[in-house]
Amino acid sequence: GGAVRFDHVRFGYDPEREILHDVSFEVPAGHTLAIVGPSGAGKSTIARILFRFYDIQSGQVTIDGQDIAEVTQASLRAAIGIVPQDMVLFNDTVGYNIGYGREGASQDEIEAAAKAASIHDFILSLPKGYDTRVGERGLKLSGGEKQRVAIARTLLKDPPLLVLDEATSALDSRTETEIQTVLRDISRKRTTLVVAHRLSTVVDAEEIIVLDQGRIVERGRHADLVRAD
Ligand code: ADP
Ligand code: ADP
Repeated sequence: GGAVRFDHVRFGYDPEREILHDVSFEVPAGHTLAIVGPSGAGKSTIARILFRFYDIQSGQVTIDGQDIAEVTQASLRAAIGIVPQDMVLFNDTVGYNIGYGREGASQDEIEAAAKAASIHDFILSLPKGYDTRVGERGLKLSGGEKQRVAIARTLLKDPPLLVLDEATSALDSRTETEIQTVLRDISRKRTTLVVAHRLSTVVDAEEIIVLDQGRIVERGRHADLVRAD
């Protein structure tokens, strides 16, 4: 499940200023589509439209053939897992952060998700009250560790559709490579929409679309686009 289709989508936050101009693409179930392009191109806007944070002005967006305009936001949230660039963690155990909002999950399921996200045992067993925030005042978990927690949290939800929104762009290059390996592994098993700045981070995608100022200016596989560079 989780197949996504954007069909001639036009959207502007302000109807007078169109941001997405006639955007069409399709992600078959189980495939990975990457959206790359410069800052301000409209990549995150596409992700927000998918959650129905905003309604489009014209065109249609479907998930598994169903028009999202006819679906509740709650069921969209259940169907889509997002790994954000920068997740804010609670000052509590890592297990708590993974399981937060997933009331039905057992400890075994949390541990399985942690394992799938390559979280080291010692991080999972950090005591309650350990400062897991990352920021100016409490750098306790590294950026990479925090991203593993965000990934485990998403895996626990087991959504048919995964959105990776610049999920590694806040990391240093070595950590980025490590986290990309984890992401590649989990995206192989489900429908995935990857939002990224650079082509080099989306080598594995079945299709890449290049967005510039709200228009798809190129599409193809990684090798095709690198050749055209
Ligand atoms: P990207 O993710 O590719 O960097 P965005 O989708 O964030 O691009 O932004 C696309 C355009 O929409 C930009 O011109 C940006 O200024 C504008 N934009 C983004 N969010 C809002 C908003 N909440 N209200 C108005 N304009 C916005
Ligand atoms: P669910 O609604 O099932 O928990 P998600 O895991 O996709 O689905 O949503 C994560 C929750 O975390 C949402 O309540 C959202 O508001 C919140 N969230 C999303 N992105 C961030 C972020 N970057 N930092 C902190 N919280 C976030």
